[in-house]
Amino acid sequence: MTSAPYPRLFTPIAVGSHTLPNRVIMGSMHTNLEEKGPEGLARLAVYYAERAKHGCALMVTGGFAPCPEGRLGGEGGFLVDSDADLHKPVPAAVHEHGGRILLQLIHAGRYGYHAEIVAPSPLKSPIHRNEPRELTEPEIERIIADFAHGATIAREAGYDGVEIMGSEGYLISQFLAPRTNQRTDQWGGSLENRMRFPLEIIKAVRAATDADFIIMYRISVLDIVKGGCPIDEVIILAKAAEAAGADILNTGVGWHEAPVPTIAQAVPRAGFSWAGARLMGHVSVPVVSTNRINTPEVAEGLVATGEADMVSMARPFLADPAFVSKAENGEADAINTCIACNQACLDHYFAGREATCLVNPRACRETELALLPTAQPKKVAVVGAGVAGLSCAETAAQRGHHVTLFEASNQIGGQFLLARHIPGKEEFNETLRYFQNRLDALGVALKLNTPAGADVMSDFDEVVLATGVVPRTPPIEGVDHPKVMTYEQLLSGAREPGRKVAVIGVGGVGVDVAVYLVERGHGSHLDAEAFRTTWGIDREASPGAPSHDVTLLQRSEGRMGSGPGKTTGWVHRSVLLRANVEMLAGVAYRRIDDEGLHVSVGGEDRVIPCDSVVLCAGQEPVNGLAETLRVSGRAPHVIGGAKLATELDAKRAIEEGFLVAAAL
Ligand code: NAP
Ligand code: SF4
Repeated sequence: MTSAPYPRLFTPIAVGSHTLPNRVIMGSMHTNLEEKGPEGLARLAVYYAERAKHGCALMVTGGFAPCPEGRLGGEGGFLVDSDADLHKPVPAAVHEHGGRILLQLIHAGRYGYHAEIVAPSPLKSPIHRNEPRELTEPEIERIIADFAHGATIAREAGYDGVEIMGSEGYLISQFLAPRTNQRTDQWGGSLENRMRFPLEIIKAVRAATDADFIIMYRISVLDIVKGGCPIDEVIILAKAAEAAGADILNTGVGWHEAPVPTIAQAVPRAGFSWAGARLMGHVSVPVVSTNRINTPEVAEGLVATGEADMVSMARPFLADPAFVSKAENGEADAINTCIACNQACLDHYFAGREATCLVNPRACRETELALLPTAQPKKVAVVGAGVAGLSCAETAAQRGHHVTLFEASNQIGGQFLLARHIPGKEEFNETLRYFQNRLDALGVALKLNTPAGADVMSDFDEVVLATGVVPRTPPIEGVDHPKVMTYEQLLSGAREPGRKVAVIGVGGVGVDVAVYLVERGHGSHLDAEAFRTTWGIDREASPGAPSHDVTLLQRSEGRMGSGPGKTTGWVHRSVLLRANVEMLAGVAYRRIDDEGLHVSVGGEDRVIPCDSVVLCAGQEPVNGLAETLRVSGRAPHVIGGAKLATELDAKRAIEEGFLVAAAL
């Protein structure tokens, strides 16, 4: 008999009067479906049900404000009485599969994206435009009552409880921290006064609901802002929250205005679990660990070492709805791992778009992208095993087609094979592991070292070309100088850069290459201690010397060094500024020679002395086979970079592969 693969994770645990079958929580993740009324809730019901079906013990919805001025933004997103009926399909769908679900109550305070924002004190957040209005005492009392009322709406809807959002810098955090609370009445000043607001909310919610209604309080264990709450205050609050009626303490790390990444790829796995672990032993209710936990091994480790009673993961459940059942069945290798890119979840959310997932385009679109088995299995050739081709091959095979995947090189992965060398992007290896696992499980015939020609294609009913891209060589005099290399040559290890490096082109790849160059050998994104030291978390910052002297150049004017990700661009920029990377916009390239890179900036000629020049000037599509096939009367499907190299990213590549295969 084999023992269970993750014994601690799958040991039942009591939360309030409930006994949960495992220690895994699907944490709150706002999807932008929350504001879409019955249609949005119907889609959310299917989305949560799919995760409950696969064994997630407890889930938390995206945030709903208990009152209009507490909303995050837009028009909806706050609770009214009639929501009890509208929400009923969500908990009902989860209960049908034996799961439990809490509704998150959140008051954004000064973090709201609208003009009616309120806060304990009229202090503007550094990352928001509007100054909040100071709350009066009667308004504070009313908000406490609103939380209780919101909980009764949740109970009426059938939810198993609520999560009260007390971290990340939202209104409750704003009351707790001297940074944002300068009141002199009973709601400010001493810790007793500052924590009155959350404690009164917990008591009011408990009084308004039943004993078996779960109250999860999300406590900020590390604010990472000046004037935040020190750990001794956090521990006092944790004990008081338990005494006030909280059944479970979820933990939160970092206010949104904190100048430190908390969930981006730059954060090591479980890189903040030490902060929540400091509550262990101080309370008797379960303590939940969060942030950058994305594999069952990491989750099991946290419970096994006593750093947490439970773990919460949000994005990993977008990436793979079956995370829990795969872990329980010993199939961790089959998990589609969240790579912490934020590109399709948080970046979509902050752009007002519906959240989905880069590695799982079905996330939050389960109703529209139901994947049906084919009634007419076909012979399908997919050419190119980058992520577009992999996604297509997987999806087509899953639907029952007979798929052959041709790859000219000796391994799958395409551009991911390069990107995985960028600090923080090691997670891309997990995507390649996932795809390899799926190809094997689905019986895809993988032909490595096989450049597919048009002659072979006559054996197939459908041909999908995912032949990718090659780096563009810009027409600069001296571009064939020995000091010049492409980003492909650099990242693959085929060429070694000198100490001083000029990088031509500052798109996503140029920024990645610059980060790679300055952080070579640092490893802080893999190790929690090194990460804390680099970013100065609870200690003096000591980022270490940059490995190369880098100059970044682009022809266009404008801000540089952020890369494409809205929630992650500022992290890259911080890394580059810290490493004294020079950034030159509005550049005209003159020539490259032994002296270096000759440019003109603002009409003035200048030489950038450098040992190496790395070309990151975009890509050109590789699609010659498409034309050959068309001439012979075939109509191949062309996807990914082969279709359009401009603005290609992994999100579009994987989605295109999926959509083409879903329609075959
Ligand atoms: P890109 O975003 O198109 O950037 C190419 C850069 O090269 C631009 O800065 C452009 O700037 C410069 N350039 C273009 N043609 C040039 C020429 N003829 N001579 C000199 N410079 C030239 O391409 P990329 O950086 O290779 O990225 C490709 C795609 O991958 C993009 O969609 C990107 O968003 C995505 N990506 C995403 C991530 C991520 O982390 N999410 C990371 C990497 C890449 P100027 O024209 O101003 O000089
Ligand atoms: Fe994770 Fe990226 Fe998917 Fe978001 S988009 S869930 S960060 S893999």
